[in-house]
Amino acid sequence: MATTITSECINCGACEPECPNNAISQGETIYVIDPLLCTECVGFHDYEACAAVCPVDCCVTDPNNIETEEVLIARARALHKEIDFGENFPSRFRKAAGTESQAPARTAEPTRAAMPMAETKLAPAPSAEATVAPVETKSPSREAVVTAPPASTPAAKPAPAVTPPPRQKEVKPKKTFPQELPLSFEEISNKFRGCGALSQTSTRLLIALLQPLLGALPHRAKKNLEDAVQNPVIFSAAGSTALNVLHNIVLYPLVAIAAAVALNGTGIIFSREINIYVICGILVGVVEGALRLRDGIFRAKPASEMAFPAAFYGVPLALLLAPVLGRRSGVVRDVPIPVDGFYAKGFVEKLERERRYGNVYTLEDRGGALLLRLEFPRRVPDLGIPERARVPDEMPDYDYDLILKDGHFIVKGRCTEELVRKISSSVGAFPPEFTTVIPLPAKISGFVHRYDNKLLEVFLVKDSGSNGAAAYPTT
Ligand code: SF4
Ligand code: SF4
Repeated sequence: MATTITSECINCGACEPECPNNAISQGETIYVIDPLLCTECVGFHDYEACAAVCPVDCCVTDPNNIETEEVLIARARALHKEIDFGENFPSRFRKAAGTESQAPARTAEPTRAAMPMAETKLAPAPSAEATVAPVETKSPSREAVVTAPPASTPAAKPAPAVTPPPRQKEVKPKKTFPQELPLSFEEISNKFRGCGALSQTSTRLLIALLQPLLGALPHRAKKNLEDAVQNPVIFSAAGSTALNVLHNIVLYPLVAIAAAVALNGTGIIFSREINIYVICGILVGVVEGALRLRDGIFRAKPASEMAFPAAFYGVPLALLLAPVLGRRSGVVRDVPIPVDGFYAKGFVEKLERERRYGNVYTLEDRGGALLLRLEFPRRVPDLGIPERARVPDEMPDYDYDLILKDGHFIVKGRCTEELVRKISSSVGAFPPEFTTVIPLPAKISGFVHRYDNKLLEVFLVKDSGSNGAAAYPTT
């Protein structure tokens, strides 16, 4: 069965760069799959890559177009003549049958000449932000498509897996840029430490004390607050939710007692009947807590991958606190990416995919300055090709350029390690470089940056005429 896209498609574009066969394109109203190019990812993955990333689950198998694994691998071989798939290739059919499969081997590196109809396009961005990420894609020729099954050959013996050594941390000299201010990042960070609304000690203490209550908020609100506070001891989505679950196991029986008194009068407090209300309150608290922590309790997900849903009263509480939290956190731009993912050979984060496009950044107003935090890619993705096994999982540090121009801050990231760039040329979902253009809400006189552990932090100091910021001389 070839994969097809149903009318529920929301045109997010997430599936297009994932397809190893470039079978997906923007149709008249929704994205469409060319059945002559789709191999159901046979040869590359043991799952359908488009279905795995689709946020609304509208990439489904087409019951009107039944195709066997033999037909699909023959099509993959015809489309990718440079790849030796062997007989032990990844396939959803084999996965379903419980058979282990091996990644295909490239017999020759694909060249542009070998990829007719090559074109360059812009990577889809999940938000209206001006983020541009060039991705090179390769479109195979339709004439190359055949449906004959391959000649059978004996199964290739799987090669023993070799784990590459972890990447050595490279210490690079600090880069400076034309509009960079002659100050250290620590100096400027200290200067604006007290300027962010959530950096005041009294506010932070209040948030820490209110954690058991704030844990009732919806997941997104808690993550926003966690990002704004930047200190898990003061507030974290996981910690506050756990505290709120305990808090509710005490709160709900009290609410039940209050309801009993309202219905029956104060006399019920001294009767046995009150026990029913107390037990009901505790039960509601326990069941609600188990449901909210189900990702951890029943699915054994680590805290970083768990969703922390709201308590019964979380949404009204969020509406009540929205003006306060929104104003006090000072977050100008939040990460608009779903932080969930899917399981295939380990957890694949959508967030990590967006890091490769330079889409994962936050912008925070610290009064006299804006604080930009942009995350660089952290892991080399698993692309199902043998070269991938020769590089460590950790992504090498990107080279970067920072430009302040016409009310925008531009970050250009570029992977310079040759083998990783070569690997990235195999699939459109892994561009080796990105350009992110960030519109700035204030006039900026200069900036100071630091880069550490795949995180770029930039203080953009507002011009003295813009919101009362201190002016610094530029270099
Ligand atoms: Fe077919 Fe895989 Fe491409 Fe989806 S990603 S259209 S299943 S080849
Ligand atoms: Fe449509 Fe799903 Fe593809 Fe998004 S990922 S464009 S919703 S089919």
